[in-house]
Amino acid sequence: MTDKKITKNYHTHTWRCKHASQDVDAYCKAAVERGLSVLGISDHTALPDNRWDHIRMDIDELPAYCEAVDQAAASHPQLTVLKSAECEYAEEYASFFSDTLLGELQFDYLVGAAHFFPIEGEWRGTYGGAESKKALQAYTDYFIKSMQSGLFAFMAHPDLFGNSYLQWDENTKAASHDIFTAAAELKVPLEINGYGLRKPKIDTPEGMRCMYPWLPFWEMASDYNIEYIVNSDAHHPRDVDANIEEAASIGRQFGLTMTDLSHLEPQ
Ligand SMILES: [Zn+2]
Ligand SMILES: [Zn+2]
Repeated sequence: MTDKKITKNYHTHTWRCKHASQDVDAYCKAAVERGLSVLGISDHTALPDNRWDHIRMDIDELPAYCEAVDQAAASHPQLTVLKSAECEYAEEYASFFSDTLLGELQFDYLVGAAHFFPIEGEWRGTYGGAESKKALQAYTDYFIKSMQSGLFAFMAHPDLFGNSYLQWDENTKAASHDIFTAAAELKVPLEINGYGLRKPKIDTPEGMRCMYPWLPFWEMASDYNIEYIVNSDAHHPRDVDANIEEAASIGRQFGLTMTDLSHLEPQ
């Protein structure tokens, strides 16, 4: 079987998140040049209380973000441009996500992601913070709760904990088992993230590896009835489709089923 080139990327940031470059139009232009058919713009969501504002747009910037997506879509009719946001789930944001983003502002879909997770009554960053069994369990509980909300078309980088939990052991297996079981039951696709493939490798007792995607995680995924998606998670227009094929080859290597999100496109 010959594999078709993947022409869809559902995970793209803009300058608004403070750690990406350029605006929607430049990503769309790059996407057209690279022959993409679908580009989902999914910058880190604004939040009503501006929590974690060092890595996201301000709530007041939301209308201009929507406008930038609408304008870029109009300027690039050959490309299907989708409006989205990468979201940390919290109960107090649920109605903002469903009524404001998906409702009033007509976002096409939302991406769930656990860049933070609650532990012992506080939020902790997943970067550097998922280093212990206890933290891994809290991350996993939060990740599953996010999926259970039913708000997210897929979950970004489920194996993000690999940035700080360095060894594949019984704790990572237990966490991954719980994530896969819930993802299969709730039918939420999991993302093999291209940005992780571009980031610097880390030194671990098991050798140099990507922080994520973490290969034993995806190998284990093949024991569950889950589907996966690949995205570049672009933070610069030049990366609009970066590492997508490499991410897909990981899925293929472990015999996983790639999901089809064409239902998100306007008919
Ligand atoms: Zn992310
Ligand atoms: Zn992202």
